[in-house]
Amino acid sequence: MQPSGTFHRHNEPYPTATPAVFLDRDGVLVEETGYLHTIQDAILISDAPHAIRRLNQRHIPAVIITNQAGIARGYYTWEDFHLVQTHIERQFQNHGALFDGIWACAHHPQGAGPLASHHPFRKPNPGMILDAASKLNLDLSRSWLIGDKTIDIKAALNASLAGAILVRTGYGKSMEDEVHALASSPTSIHVCDTLAAAVTVILHHLGYNE
Ligand SMILES: [Mg+2]
Repeated sequence: MQPSGTFHRHNEPYPTATPAVFLDRDGVLVEETGYLHTIQDAILISDAPHAIRRLNQRHIPAVIITNQAGIARGYYTWEDFHLVQTHIERQFQNHGALFDGIWACAHHPQGAGPLASHHPFRKPNPGMILDAASKLNLDLSRSWLIGDKTIDIKAALNASLAGAILVRTGYGKSMEDEVHALASSPTSIHVCDTLAAAVTVILHHLGYNE
């Protein structure tokens, strides 16, 4: 583990700049349970593995970017995070769904101790997306993000992604009005009921006819 407030693990870079899909984790890939930190509470959102598999099949990088402020707030530790994260990835793997990378940021200005600060990786800042782009060789101008909070969508805007999709899982339904207010940005913004529907929108925009 890196001795800091951030963590990342990723595959080898793509040989040519490749459009990716950035995914928030809690409320998008797994049920939002409020500062998820036990494997018992890590429940996959139904059909999420299938949605990720559709990206895998087309060699579209799937990259998790997750704020983990619960660590700065002292609710759980990096060790808890790693146990949960490994468990989640294994569950997806059991369904044949793989991620190309995972970035996490534990900082929060209202936290306690050394992580009680702003950080360029903490969404809505684009740091995790930019770091992933440089390490995996991603083409951000053709990349998309799927999230369930306004800060996810703002991170996509701040990274100048092609598009961002709010899903109505997790906190998504309560964020819809805020997200619609961002619609004048150059980043294309959509709202979808499910992750599966969001992936369909993205595949269409990337030129795949299913
Ligand atoms: Mg979320």
